[in-house]
Amino acid sequence: MPVKDSDADDQGSAKPVEAAAPRAKRRRSQPLKVANQIPQSRRKEIEKALEDASPTPKKWSRKDGPKYHRFLRKRISPGTVRQIEFDLLDVDIGESWPIPITVIHGARPGPVVTVLGALHGNELVGPLALTYLCGPNLLGEDEAIDPAAMAGTLRIIPVVNLPGYRRQSRYMVDGRDLNRSFPGKPDSNTTSRVAHRLWNKVIKGSDHVIDLHTAAVGRTNMPQIRANLAHRASNRIARAFGIEAILDNEGPKGSLRKLANDSGIGAITYEGGGSNEADPESVQVAIYGVLNVLRSLKILPGYPSRPRFRILASGSVWIRSDQGGLLDVLTPAGSFVEEGETVATVTDPERPGESYDVLTPTRGLLISTATHPFVNAGTPIGHLLPVTRGVKTLRKRLDPEGCLVTSGSDGDPPWREDEDVEDISVIGEWSGGSPDAEWGHNEEGATDDEAGEADPNWT
Ligand SMILES: [Zn+2]
Repeated sequence: MPVKDSDADDQGSAKPVEAAAPRAKRRRSQPLKVANQIPQSRRKEIEKALEDASPTPKKWSRKDGPKYHRFLRKRISPGTVRQIEFDLLDVDIGESWPIPITVIHGARPGPVVTVLGALHGNELVGPLALTYLCGPNLLGEDEAIDPAAMAGTLRIIPVVNLPGYRRQSRYMVDGRDLNRSFPGKPDSNTTSRVAHRLWNKVIKGSDHVIDLHTAAVGRTNMPQIRANLAHRASNRIARAFGIEAILDNEGPKGSLRKLANDSGIGAITYEGGGSNEADPESVQVAIYGVLNVLRSLKILPGYPSRPRFRILASGSVWIRSDQGGLLDVLTPAGSFVEEGETVATVTDPERPGESYDVLTPTRGLLISTATHPFVNAGTPIGHLLPVTRGVKTLRKRLDPEGCLVTSGSDGDPPWREDEDVEDISVIGEWSGGSPDAEWGHNEEGATDDEAGEADPNWT
């Protein structure tokens, strides 16, 4: 945990100091740890952003007693759960695409957290995780999230891009990518209108946003967080999520994460699994992570779980095929691979018996692999975090096949303090400017898992 949680009434009584001396500012939170192997320029940016802890907002003060949560012209009483329908489009006739939003308003005041799934309609890990999160047996038999025990407000939107979800497509009906259309305009194209309404009516009033995604068509991701670590509130929840891989970068232009950050809202993107599939491990890790964030923000009672280590990555390395043909990936996403290890083979049906190995250029953690078998020379088939430090620690969490067992996928890890979490830095840059830029286009997929181009044929 980067920040020791501090309650508004946690001031204590400062000892009197000598009259002449200026009163030292009381440090209400522990200094944040920034891994010292992160490139120095980036480290300075992150440290600067984390320097001044802003005080707990007055609106979370518990002195004035419970308050209503005003949302979409509704007044939600403290300690209650409400399900509200929100129209993606504001129309009198025709399709308005109402989507369900569950609001769990705690008995005591606290931060407002919005959790979203399926901004990309065919990414189903978010919808599944959030349906469980709203469900009656989340924390045990007949044990749902209890608003009476909560301090703060949770808004859960399992499926945002409903029209895309119904068509099993990443995009909105006009072929545009909703997660590249923020903040949107009220009088522009359909996707832009939806983005504008979502942002202004639903997201804007949040203190934190957790956006759940999977890889785009043609590839798969091991569970990972993407966050701008130089954004204080985002840094905090990125670590609080409690998993190993954190990719430090600003969100793509037009993405919800970027707009939220620019507006002072803490925002992270979770990526796990692939689109059009329901990878149970990625679903489990998503639920685990959301609960960790809620516990860490003290919205839910209990202690957040923490991983044995975190990889804070500022860049990556790509593994490409040098031949064309059909791909067979041997090391799944999540594998820790050695330099020169064979990660895939390429064969050509017209040349039976001939096979080419694809080797890793360097040692590291494979965070994403291609699932689409057609490759040309130069096609990226794997995305690697080149881990050079902390390898011994990392190895302790590998399964017999050499795959990282993500925290939360194998039950709750033992309790540990944040100081006991080892930070492992990966230095580099994101080729093409963002973690997914090198994937390129295929018919269904998109450049970025977080935000792709509007139309795959549009270049
Ligand atoms: Zn996505």
